Amino acid sequence: MFDNLSDKLEATFKKLAGQATINEVNIGIAMRDIKRALLSADVNYKVAKKFVEEVREKALGQDVVKSVSPAQMIVKIVSDELTEIMGGENKPLDLNTKKLPAIVMVAGLQGSGKTTFCAKLAKRLKKNGKHPLLVAADVYRPAAVDQLKTLGEQIDVPVFALSEQDALKTAHQGVDSARKNGNDVVIVDTAGRLQVDEDMMVEAEALKDQLKPEELLFVVDAMIGQEAVNTAKVFNDRLDFDGVVLTKLDGDARGGSALSIKQVVDKPIKFMSVGEKVDDLDVFYPDRMAQRILGMGDIVSFVEKAQETLDLEKTRKMQSRLLKNEFDLDDFFDQLQQLKKMGSIQGLVEMVPGLNKMIPKQDLDGLDFKPIEAIISSMTKQERATPEIINGSRRQRIANGSGTRVQDVNMLLKQFKEMKKMMGSVTKMTNSGRKILPQN
Ligand code: GDP
Repeated sequence: MFDNLSDKLEATFKKLAGQATINEVNIGIAMRDIKRALLSADVNYKVAKKFVEEVREKALGQDVVKSVSPAQMIVKIVSDELTEIMGGENKPLDLNTKKLPAIVMVAGLQGSGKTTFCAKLAKRLKKNGKHPLLVAADVYRPAAVDQLKTLGEQIDVPVFALSEQDALKTAHQGVDSARKNGNDVVIVDTAGRLQVDEDMMVEAEALKDQLKPEELLFVVDAMIGQEAVNTAKVFNDRLDFDGVVLTKLDGDARGGSALSIKQVVDKPIKFMSVGEKVDDLDVFYPDRMAQRILGMGDIVSFVEKAQETLDLEKTRKMQSRLLKNEFDLDDFFDQLQQLKKMGSIQGLVEMVPGLNKMIPKQDLDGLDFKPIEAIISSMTKQERATPEIINGSRRQRIANGSGTRVQDVNMLLKQFKEMKKMMGSVTKMTNSGRKILPQN
């Protein structure tokens, strides 16, 4: 996701890097490039236009600060503005209710990933100490009920379904059953159609009126590009939902919907789904996403994910070494082993600055870290700790020893160096509580 946009933005910033000052001319060129990049990432036209206008205005209005280069300043402005258009900060689910159970109603088109999301959310809530009940009110697609039952079994969460095709009755009885059995949250999976259709809307409106859900979430497939925003608008006009769940951000989605939806419907994106497995759900943080778009990875999410999955002692050590910028190739090797345990590799790879450039996309599915692992294993302990000491002849021997080419060894060392540099700047900025800027 966002690869193309990230590359184009990077190219724009590079062009600015050689400029001594920001002026109407170079900012004009940069804004034209950024606008094109946004449009080709499927960002809504009005949103892209407003975006570059705001950035231009802020950039030209800035006092020149000696220690900051024009490129750095623009990166910061773009980063802040990206964060802003995606909603500023995460809006968490609000499940506060005087009368249990709290109700989450989930709506969206068929195939958007609704049913899968319901299960993912149930798993997340359960982990946070809740006792969810899944309700199969997507009664017209028989497979949807079975799918929810299967997912429910997988995550050990009960599923309520009726044999009748009556969504309202199913939902009401589901809520009653939750009340009786002490379930504190009910997640209602509703029917979708392939396209927006009147019957579906009427039924969804009735469900909303009667259930009065604490959260009505609209699920939308990011891969459908501009259409995601149009669909969101139609659903919002009718249902006035509380938040958006963007799905399939692991695929070829160009990401434009993530950047446009908040602006167009003025509802926050609360979650993003990044794979088919029940763990592939992330809370949506606009600032972290902006950093990811700018190719700076998302170390915070990465470490959080690690904390969820890995043994705490190891994670703490890794975190502290990252923060002290003592991260070496041994840690990197360790991290690759851990990565394998952590689920959707593609999503994780994007969180680590530089790592997405090290591993070709086609290798991600097959988890082919083997060449990297082989290269690191062929180094001595001292070389792994201080890769700078590896000279030309050692590089050749490492290549021979690992069954790779010397170019592969060079590439790994170069990328590792860049990754460390990037982490250094992330760490510095995080430590000083400031926004992130690249170091050149
Ligand atoms: P529904 O019709 O809206 O309930 O959609 P489903 O939950 O059945 O999902 C439709 C298809 O999309 C299924 O094959 C899911 O496995 C897949 N899917 C759902 N979410 C994601 C995601 O985030 N990434 C990917 N790659 N596939 C997903």
